[in-house]
Amino acid sequence: MQLHILTICYIIGSVTFILGLKMLSNPLTARKGNLIAAGGMTIAILGTIFLYETEDGQGLHNYLWIFSGLIIGAVIGTLAAKKVKMTAMPEMVSLFNGMGGACAALISAVEFDHVYREYRLDMNSFADVVPFGHYFTISAGAIIGSVSFAGSVIAWGKLNGRIKDFSFNGQHIVNLIILGFVFGVAGFTYWTSSSVTNIWFLITLLSAFVYGVMFVLPIGGADMPVVISLLNSFTGVAAAFGGFLYNNKVMLTGGILVGAAGTLLTMLMCKAMNRSLQNVLIGSFGAKNAKSAAATTQGSYKEISLNDTATCLAYANKVMIVPGYGLAVAQAQHICHELEKNLEEKGVQVFYAIHPVAGRMPGHMNVLLAEADVSYDKLLEMEHANEEFKTADVVLILGANDVVNPAAKSDPSSPIYGMPILEVEQAKMVVVNKRSMKPGYAGIENDLFFRPKTSMLFGDAKKVLQQLVNEIKNV
Ligand code: NDP
Repeated sequence: MQLHILTICYIIGSVTFILGLKMLSNPLTARKGNLIAAGGMTIAILGTIFLYETEDGQGLHNYLWIFSGLIIGAVIGTLAAKKVKMTAMPEMVSLFNGMGGACAALISAVEFDHVYREYRLDMNSFADVVPFGHYFTISAGAIIGSVSFAGSVIAWGKLNGRIKDFSFNGQHIVNLIILGFVFGVAGFTYWTSSSVTNIWFLITLLSAFVYGVMFVLPIGGADMPVVISLLNSFTGVAAAFGGFLYNNKVMLTGGILVGAAGTLLTMLMCKAMNRSLQNVLIGSFGAKNAKSAAATTQGSYKEISLNDTATCLAYANKVMIVPGYGLAVAQAQHICHELEKNLEEKGVQVFYAIHPVAGRMPGHMNVLLAEADVSYDKLLEMEHANEEFKTADVVLILGANDVVNPAAKSDPSSPIYGMPILEVEQAKMVVVNKRSMKPGYAGIENDLFFRPKTSMLFGDAKKVLQQLVNEIKNV
């Protein structure tokens, strides 16, 4: 009976994950979808704690450990989520993803220890007593989970600027050797009759960790979004292996959903960046190229005053706003929405052009603008936006840089070369708001700022937008 109720809990969990994921695809339903999936997850967790029984009819009894872990995790997670600044959200998401990978690796390590003790592996080899399928599941969860954990920690450091891109000649060969070593040791652990199989397993875990670090360290500039999505899918796959190990259906469903969603996102990101996955993983992008591209731009730029910008915007027929990471840094999404409403009251058509990798996490600009209640109909995806620029009078770029950098089309030495960009120059006039001439995430100069159609409007996006709103009221 208990088992049937537990199965129902798992079905509820799995269904809510699918519903939640579906609802997450639209900003209007995303919050509710998240809550529904979290509710389903809670039911599945509580069901497991109170209703799970082993084959010999034993339930879980170590409640002190379980609830201590749950409470500590819940307190840290809630505080971190409440305290985090909106701008630090991408790095926190990366860190949380890494924690998922670490959990999956730990589950595999616990199961390894279980098998080690049960079959006295200090006297027998794994191959003698455990089917290969079972060992494969344990080691795959351990390896993928460790890679995801290590890679996500490096991605966290890169997103908050603490870790710089690092690459050296022949790094890809070194990475392949490390990966070969990981698989080699994993295989050796299964077949060896060494009395220290557990040490070999530990070496597998550690070398997978080193591979995770080395794999993400050289990924530079515009390729980070692809790697972040890939790490997401790794965590999902590692969790699914955990589900196999414990025959836990809800963990399996959750893992498969995250793995599949992450893989789809990776493919979409690759498409958006116009790169093949292989190109991102073994291509040579990074700081070295960024410097060579940075040195090439020369010339002078022209500035525009607030007053003139307000006049141009107020008398335009159509204005396209290009939001970027700087808009999130300035937390200017609400005032941006106000500017949009003021312009519309003056009969100006306003749209937002959304680049798929603008900001620092997939969908960053959509989330940011949804928070300010900007209507979803106003957000144009890149291809559509590039069509609309032709008929726009003014393009107002707010804290975006790499996603409008023409070097992506014209400079083969640029680390963002090949990435489709928002082709803002098709409009009659381009106004760029940022605080200085400093580069964006990819670390390269932007020739757009020096082009004849472009005018620079310097200042923090929030302050500038506030002043623009005031000025436009008087036009
Ligand atoms: P960028 O990082 O290229 O540029 C942001 C610009 O915002 C900077 O040039 C900065 O200039 C300006 N800025 C910062 N703070 C403010 C402020 N308070 N007010 C006004 N401007 C400000 O951002 P994009 O969105 O154009 O491009 C995203 C980049 O991040 C791409 O290279 C992408 O590959 C990468 N990336 C994206 C991820 C994703 O999943 N979306 C994940 C990881 C990386 P200044 O300092 O002069 O003000």
